[in-house]
Amino acid sequence: MEKKDLRKFIRMQKRQFSQQQLAELSLSVINRLMASPKMKEAKTVLMYYSLDDEVNTHDIVDTVLKQGKTVLLPKVISETEMELRRYTGPQDLQDGFFNIMEPSGELFENYEDIDLAVIPGMAFDSQNNRLGRGKGYYDRMLPKLVNAYKIGVCFDFQHLPGIPADENDIKMDEII
Ligand code: ADP
Ligand code: MG
Repeated sequence: MEKKDLRKFIRMQKRQFSQQQLAELSLSVINRLMASPKMKEAKTVLMYYSLDDEVNTHDIVDTVLKQGKTVLLPKVISETEMELRRYTGPQDLQDGFFNIMEPSGELFENYEDIDLAVIPGMAFDSQNNRLGRGKGYYDRMLPKLVNAYKIGVCFDFQHLPGIPADENDIKMDEII
């Protein structure tokens, strides 16, 4: 299947689940993420503040913060670029593009300091390829994170045997 058909297929699958079911499925993903040695070791973590249809990260951004780690969230700044901002608590979140809650905290540009990146996706495959929403935002940003271990997170039905990938597509190190 082509990328755009796969995105449609995944959106269709998601509609089979209630918000309640997705919340429960999120918990099991999040529990595994939080138990990961990579998370335990990490000092500076790029996370994301989830949309309704993504693995829910609303609570763990604060959990990770309380563990004393530096938490970063992406902020969409144009049709092609995201920047990273430091998250220091719920007061930092404001409505952004696509209704993503985005951090208004301090701009973060020390990309090489990031040791762990937690990355959402429409789908991932068994070769750790990632399919995003179709704008390539993470494909442009991830090459700057030269030291980050990249964990893609998704629901089971988003983990596929294979998805098409081209030279711009950045692979994950692990999928949960
Ligand atoms: P997504 O990663 O969101 O699933 P795609 O991989 O299809 O989306 O990429 C979306 C668009 O962004 C494509 O036209 C692709 O060529 C472009 N793109 C991706 N990465 C880069 C990059 N590093 N530099 C320039 N364009 C890029
Ligand atoms: Mg891509």
